[in-house]
Amino acid sequence: MEIDVVIVGAGPSGLRASARLAQNGVAVIVLYQGLIGGELKSVPWIEDSEIAPNGMTGLELSEKLADAATQAGVKFHVVEVHGVEAYADCATVLLADEAFLTARAVILATGTKPVQMDSVNLSAYEGAGHIACVSCDAIFYENSPVLVSGGGYGGAGDALHLARYASKVFVVEKSSQLNCGATRMQAIVAHPKIEVLLNTQVTSAGGFNGLDSVVVQGDDGLERALQATGISIQIGRQANNNHVRGALDLDPDGFIKTDGNGITSAPNLFAIGDARSGSNRTILDALVDADKCAALVASALDKELSA
Ligand SMILES: Cc1cc2nc3c(=O)[nH]c(=O)nc-3n(C[C@H](O)[C@H](O)[C@H](O)COP(=O)(O)OP(=O)(O)OC[C@H]3O[C@@H](n4cnc5c(N)ncnc54)[C@H](O)[C@@H]3O)c2cc1C
Repeated sequence: MEIDVVIVGAGPSGLRASARLAQNGVAVIVLYQGLIGGELKSVPWIEDSEIAPNGMTGLELSEKLADAATQAGVKFHVVEVHGVEAYADCATVLLADEAFLTARAVILATGTKPVQMDSVNLSAYEGAGHIACVSCDAIFYENSPVLVSGGGYGGAGDALHLARYASKVFVVEKSSQLNCGATRMQAIVAHPKIEVLLNTQVTSAGGFNGLDSVVVQGDDGLERALQATGISIQIGRQANNNHVRGALDLDPDGFIKTDGNGITSAPNLFAIGDARSGSNRTILDALVDADKCAALVASALDKELSA
């Protein structure tokens, strides 16, 4: 099959853009790592009435978007993209196995990854305390104490979901308040299993056969060891940008600069969703970006083919 457009990333932005393009007769392949749906796996419940009037889980939305793309004829391939190159009339993605793929356009929908904590060596607790995907793994912490580092939207969502299973959930936030909106804040504060520690940071984690304790330090300098067999880190997100460095203009935080419609500083390379500079990093933003960019690319290809 001749490929017109390569999309890198199978989160909501990549899935939606792929479906929209394929519905317009464009041949599309989506390259991605991990699970289809990207960070939707981390969203326990979607409350946005524009996306899901009755609410739905992130995994349900992911299935819906993937079904629409598959039915429209989109192809999927699991591979890590290592680089991109732009040319006057096409763009190329360089793949992990040193192969490459050239198409008329490449859309980067590569999202973000969590900021890691210098104080915790998470690799020591992979599969034994580090909760990388709360929606997938919360059930393994039934009746156990766990800790969430970060009191923003991500941390609050994780804490509420974990509290359905865990015996106790500590939420450790370095500032003087939770930053997760009024509704989630009320739910957290009122929850009998959740204890919030403000002005506090994680300083180390311990345990030989898996995590069993986390040491936190308050602004007053006092340290405290908390019993916790699981830890979720939600202290911020950074762009997934290793594969685009040098090829595209990035903002000072490493997100890809665009004109708002997905057009980047390089020809035939587009960027949408959380990877884009200025995105609000919500599912709705990802879907809106995808619709705008797909319309632009489909119309450009259509003009070219009929010229
Ligand atoms: C814990 C948590 C809770 C959230 N809760 C909400 C919420 O309640 N409501 C809301 O609106 N939003 C929420 N969000 C944000 C929402 O999930 C994101 O805004 C959305 O998923 C962004 O979609 P995206 O397509 O841009 O990127 P992502 O979903 O991050 O997908 C990126 C894709 O790119 C792939 N990729 C990256 N680099 C490469 C590479 N080099 N090669 C190949 N593939 C690559 C990844 O594997 C993935 O498939 C939450 C996020 C988190 C982390």
